[in-house]
Amino acid sequence: MIIPKTREEIELMREAALVVSKTLGMLASEVKPGVSTNELNSKAETFIRDMGAIPGFLGLYDCPSTLLTSVNEAVVHGLPTDNPLEEGDIVAIDCGAILNGFYGDHAYTFEVGEVDPEVKKLLEVTKESLYRGIREFKFGNRVGDIGYAIQNYCESHGYGVVRELVGHGIGTKLHEAPEVPNYGKRGRGKKFIEGMTIAIEPMINLGTHKVKQLKDGWTIVTMDGQPSAHFEHDVALVDGKPELLSTFAYVYEALGIESDEEKEFRQKEQVL
Ligand code: MG
Ligand code: MG
Repeated sequence: MIIPKTREEIELMREAALVVSKTLGMLASEVKPGVSTNELNSKAETFIRDMGAIPGFLGLYDCPSTLLTSVNEAVVHGLPTDNPLEEGDIVAIDCGAILNGFYGDHAYTFEVGEVDPEVKKLLEVTKESLYRGIREFKFGNRVGDIGYAIQNYCESHGYGVVRELVGHGIGTKLHEAPEVPNYGKRGRGKKFIEGMTIAIEPMINLGTHKVKQLKDGWTIVTMDGQPSAHFEHDVALVDGKPELLSTFAYVYEALGIESDEEKEFRQKEQVL
């Protein structure tokens, strides 16, 4: 059952999402060769607690960490380790936090030092596909419209769209209805309703869409060992239009990137 939120609840959810946005922004300056994902994980946990929030993943489904850190061929659900990140790696950092009783959940794939142009392109296209998906989250559309937009764009670049893992409704639970796949057909699936809140999260592979799970019971990797990218935003349907709750603004500030990609998804000027 889809649980629509009131305007007040959506504002509370925005604050929860903002905790994660700020955490990703803090991590953006920490991701570099030689740093381990375990170090990033400890920093994130302290940072979230210092903001008066609770790490959203830690302990949920027995998750042992605050962050999920997926390096190179890892798609999602990578567990932090003591292995140092290396020049040319990519690391998808997925983070959740609970504030005001609501979850925030979003993800960014970072470059470690100088990354191969082919991999850079994968990141660019995956992030662009996220916004193409968000644009479809509007009154009159259905879940399949988001999946279609993401799949169509990524496959036109020859990339593999992961089928086994999907986006989702979000609220007082991390995973609420509906499932939001990154593939689909136009006009199919659940209809969008005012006040619904979802996490849209394309997981896109450079090669085959096929994935497998490692023996740790968590990490999902590409079947062909090629890199994979993951970006995720939390979005609410307000006045029939998509309203971004999370933001990459803190990441861009840390990395010195100028971007107005989120502007069309903010109905009012947000003071961040
Ligand atoms: Mg996530
Ligand atoms: Mg998610």
